[in-house]
Amino acid sequence: MSEALSVAVMVSALKAESQTTNLPAPAPLPLIPKAVLLFDIDGVIRDVSGSYRRAIVETVHHFCGWRPEPAVIDALKGEGCWNNDWDASLELLRRHGHQPLPEREQLVAVFSGHYFGGDPEEDPGSWTGFIGQEPLLVERPFFERLEAAGLLWGFVSGAEPPSARFVLERRLGLSDPPLIAMGEAPDKPDPTGLIRLAEQLSGRPAGAGGVPTLYLGDTVADVITVTRARQRHPQQPYLSLAVAPPHLHNAPSRSAYESALRRAGADQILERTSDLTPDLVERWLQQLG
Ligand SMILES: [Mg+2]
Repeated sequence: MSEALSVAVMVSALKAESQTTNLPAPAPLPLIPKAVLLFDIDGVIRDVSGSYRRAIVETVHHFCGWRPEPAVIDALKGEGCWNNDWDASLELLRRHGHQPLPEREQLVAVFSGHYFGGDPEEDPGSWTGFIGQEPLLVERPFFERLEAAGLLWGFVSGAEPPSARFVLERRLGLSDPPLIAMGEAPDKPDPTGLIRLAEQLSGRPAGAGGVPTLYLGDTVADVITVTRARQRHPQQPYLSLAVAPPHLHNAPSRSAYESALRRAGADQILERTSDLTPDLVERWLQQLG
């Protein structure tokens, strides 16, 4: 398949912005895309050490007066089942011996107050919370390069939909990006959302004829999500890519964190998200055979 044809049939979040006519789009050709590249958002696309992670710390502090150290949160996340930051906050309170535990609804309200600092359903311009302090780890041209190489891409994230849309649309400038966020599929490490988005983007059902699917995440839960997708559809190639979250990039504990990702089943460990290039993806696809 030529690269030009492959690109032409892609459902593109970039293309939508540059479309200048009202002519009906040509009928898609029945071509098979090379691969689907899916991304986690927090720790992969944006640095959340000063936002989501800080909201965990301040939420726990609000209820029990204790601020968990970053290493405590890393250890919890390393268990692979605390992808939801509300549940993670509640679990930290429980382990700290705080009694009685707050109602989940009450905890979510405190968490949102710190993170959004305003109504998540309202205009992001009115938000005053930690969400305003999220350095980006890639820029829009990163996705343009993947797209130009005939790779489909999208996002599978446990972040709340308004937060995920904020970073993808407002900060990165992506138009209607393919996204499955919190509440739109079972929480990771359940692979349902990952499998579904890969099917939607490629237009092919999962299984023997499924398109190779790569997922880049920063936690053990992200890696397990891929291994479970593989268990569900053993005949489809799934590749787990992992990267340490930015707050660990210069930390002594980085190599232990990466070893845990490898032990969980990560196929490739990246130095940073922006190291992911179409050439690297091509090389891994060739190795898959
Ligand atoms: Mg993450």
